[in-house]
Amino acid sequence: MAGEIEIKEIYENGMKILEDLTNNAHELQEQMLEEILRRNAGTEYLSRFFPSGQADKLNFKTNVPIVTYEDTKPYIDRIANGETSSILFADPIIQFIRSSGTSGGQQKLIPITAESFEKGKYHLFLVDIVTKKCFSGSDEGKSLSLYFSKPEIETPSGIVASPYLTFYSKTDIFQSNLAKFCTSPVETILCLDNKQSMFCQLLTGLLQRDEVVQLSSIFASVLARATKFLEDYWRELCCNIRTGYLSDWIIDPGCKNAMSLILTGPNPELADLIQQICEDKSWEGVIKKLWPKIKYISSICTGSMSQYISLLEFYGGGIPLVSPSYVSSEACFGINLQPLSKPFDVSYTFLPNTAYFEFLPVNKDGGGKAQETRTMDKPVDLANVKLGQYYEVVVTTLAGLYRYRVGDVLKVTGFYNKSPQFQFVERQNVVLSIDTEKTTEEDLSKAITNAKLILEPFGIMLTAYSSYPDTSSIPGRYVLFWELKMKGSNDLPKLDAKIMEECCCIVEESFGFTYKALRKGGAISALELKVVKHGSFDELMDFYISKGASITQYKPPCCLKSEDAIKILNSAMVGKFFSPKTMFLSALSEG
Ligand code: AMP
Repeated sequence: MAGEIEIKEIYENGMKILEDLTNNAHELQEQMLEEILRRNAGTEYLSRFFPSGQADKLNFKTNVPIVTYEDTKPYIDRIANGETSSILFADPIIQFIRSSGTSGGQQKLIPITAESFEKGKYHLFLVDIVTKKCFSGSDEGKSLSLYFSKPEIETPSGIVASPYLTFYSKTDIFQSNLAKFCTSPVETILCLDNKQSMFCQLLTGLLQRDEVVQLSSIFASVLARATKFLEDYWRELCCNIRTGYLSDWIIDPGCKNAMSLILTGPNPELADLIQQICEDKSWEGVIKKLWPKIKYISSICTGSMSQYISLLEFYGGGIPLVSPSYVSSEACFGINLQPLSKPFDVSYTFLPNTAYFEFLPVNKDGGGKAQETRTMDKPVDLANVKLGQYYEVVVTTLAGLYRYRVGDVLKVTGFYNKSPQFQFVERQNVVLSIDTEKTTEEDLSKAITNAKLILEPFGIMLTAYSSYPDTSSIPGRYVLFWELKMKGSNDLPKLDAKIMEECCCIVEESFGFTYKALRKGGAISALELKVVKHGSFDELMDFYISKGASITQYKPPCCLKSEDAIKILNSAMVGKFFSPKTMFLSALSEG
């Protein structure tokens, strides 16, 4: 494990390391694959693809199939049930990482080895170096990093499985080196009750408000949740600060113990100050006001997380929002080398030393006419991707994933030295569909981004959305759920039917050709927009967390598949609107 000296070295040479990695991207990718084959070609999984024993790149590309998690799962299950991990990879397994659900809703188990952990850790350091370089003074304070843990589970063979952050928070490198730069004591991060953990982390963040230079979480969904939590709990947080007593519902021994060292006595001045800020009717810029030395907010806010951008920009009051990296439990992919770029313009530069990457060309019409996102067969290497082309990323790792489809669609936006840079486009399997029509995550996001613009002049903010295809009657229709709030308060906005219907129209107009054709032909009914009350999407998140999702890795479901999830949002509905047919048809004929 890396100690202080190694960390110091990486930090001192970080930019040079990045230059070397990106300048030698092609060679490093070749070496990566050679090394993976050298170590793992003899495993039960891989050896059947090299009958002649010649495990070279050509045979790898010709013989090893491109797979999904479901194809790898039988091997993972065998390891989980007691067989040796060497059926899949040579290095010893440390544990499993539990990641987001598969399309079937099941959580994935991804093996991690000492080396794959080292690579991930290295990636995190580089991300930190690049980001801090942009913000002078950002290494002189602390980070209010909202990290959470989930209970570890054990497989029948006794191998531990937990989300990445739960695993990471328990490592030596985090506990003895990195934790001291965070306002949250490790015990609060390790607390398994998310509510107690959130309360204590925000409390310590407020108590150390003058030291906080960075607010961060892995994904923006956590920050959105934290702002809502702050709205609900600021009075109680102030009371704790004023009296010096921790709320008695904080019963987690780790939290209580850690907080007793920080909440050491009454601090009425600080409580008054926070109260004054939070009593303000408008919470615009509240983050900047609460943490006056903050330089930036760091959180992934591309892809499905982009729905939180306006919320975070509003609360941030001009603090730069940095989407630092593109990572997954399977591998670390890329770093945002331009932390100051606007969230919608972010590209990630792939680093060639974490895994071997291939890219399946994806047929995606940028004009939104042909809505189908179709993956074509022949993958290309990192050295051969083309500017402007869409790809699905396929990964091969030292820890047992071979030509594994991650399920994310990316677009090449440029190159840094020899490394390609990609914009995150969408998750491949998140599709809203009726009949032959398919509206992807990106199509939906673009359509909603267009529509919500007309709410802005009325001071109404869209804080979260989701959708599902309602086929309970024929023809079916798409239903959208929107959580709306007034910018100045948490009051429910007054919903003008005309404006909301116009939103429906804009969404429909923004959809692709197939949608419009089916809608015009009557095979799809008018789009329905259901407005839900503030906080409903938190309930939805709680529902998914209760089903096993981890709060830190939570991805908002842009298209709901679960009946129970739909029920939760339906019961929070405060208004529903339909796209007026006439308006839509006139828009069609104009177009
Ligand atoms: P997990 O499976 O929980 O480890 O989450 C990994 C997934 O999160 C990726 O496959 C992506 O779908 C998503 N993700 C990770 N980084 C980003 C990013 N920078 N932008 C958009 N989505 C991301």
